[in-house]
Amino acid sequence: MAACDGRGEAIGCFGLTEPTAGSDPGGMTTFAHRDGGDWILNGSKRWIGLASVAKVAIIWAQTDGGVRGFVVPTETPGFTATPIKPKLSMRASIQCDIELSNVRLPESAMLPNVVGLKGPFSCLNEARYGIIWGAMGAARDAFEVALDYSKGRLQFGRPLAGYQLTQQKLVDMALEINKGFLLALHLGRKKDAGTLQPDQISVGKLNNCREAIKIAREARTILGGNGITLDHSPLRHANNLESVRTYEGTDEVHTLILGSKLTGIAAFR
Ligand SMILES: Cc1cc2nc3c(=O)[nH]c(=O)nc-3n(C[C@H](O)[C@H](O)[C@H](O)COP(=O)(O)OP(=O)(O)OC[C@H]3O[C@@H](n4cnc5c(N)ncnc54)[C@H](O)[C@@H]3O)c2cc1C
Repeated sequence: MAACDGRGEAIGCFGLTEPTAGSDPGGMTTFAHRDGGDWILNGSKRWIGLASVAKVAIIWAQTDGGVRGFVVPTETPGFTATPIKPKLSMRASIQCDIELSNVRLPESAMLPNVVGLKGPFSCLNEARYGIIWGAMGAARDAFEVALDYSKGRLQFGRPLAGYQLTQQKLVDMALEINKGFLLALHLGRKKDAGTLQPDQISVGKLNNCREAIKIAREARTILGGNGITLDHSPLRHANNLESVRTYEGTDEVHTLILGSKLTGIAAFR
């Protein structure tokens, strides 16, 4: 395996989702069984970011003792990663199908100390927290592009920014961006204090992705026809945010997490 000494030279990937197990990772069928002192992995993963260029994959698999994580060097015989294309979202990044066919690993490849889905979920909570900020960054760029454009674009003899309907759009966008950043800041402070709870991360992920998509789409309207070209970022952000609202738990999954928290009744189990 490539050395992992903090220099950022080896790309890794995170393999949880499967063709038939997305929102419900507990339904995964990838299986690791013992063969003497080794582990043998068989199964499929889907949508795995950077897998075709990664040196190492963390693969989550069922075992006789529950779900475990395995460190898999991607050059191991039986490991294949194939990019998924064409895509209409996140076109600049790679997501792959992975096939695991009798991938033989030493006993030391299994991640110690964590059994079950709390292993992958602890990674997802970190990524979900990052998305809370990232979605608002995309929204802010879309807003700034629309604001700038509206000041320079004249129709009916005046800048678009001078019309009340445009100002309403800009103000609504600015309100949600400021609320979204304040929410992210609040959650970040709780994270620093060690008091951030998973359902609070769901609040941020759900709200900020949902609002960011609305903002990017609204910003696009201010750009009119020019907004559907690659010369301007809002529609690109909106399309990329379709992925962001899907990975790390869809809108629906976070809604169900919060519904369960509010009512005490889990609707998805
Ligand atoms: C760009 C991109 C990058 C990704 N990167 C990775 C990665 O690096 N590693 C990784 O492991 N995975 C990755 N994923 C996978 C991602 O986590 C899954 O796509 C996501 O969990 C949803 O799973 P699914 O696509 O199978 O959809 P499904 O689970 O089939 O869901 C389809 C629809 O049904 C809804 N749904 C599901 N269950 C319920 C329910 N109980 N009630 C109501 N509605 C429901 C969902 O919300 C969704 O709207 C990535 C995905 C994308 C698009």
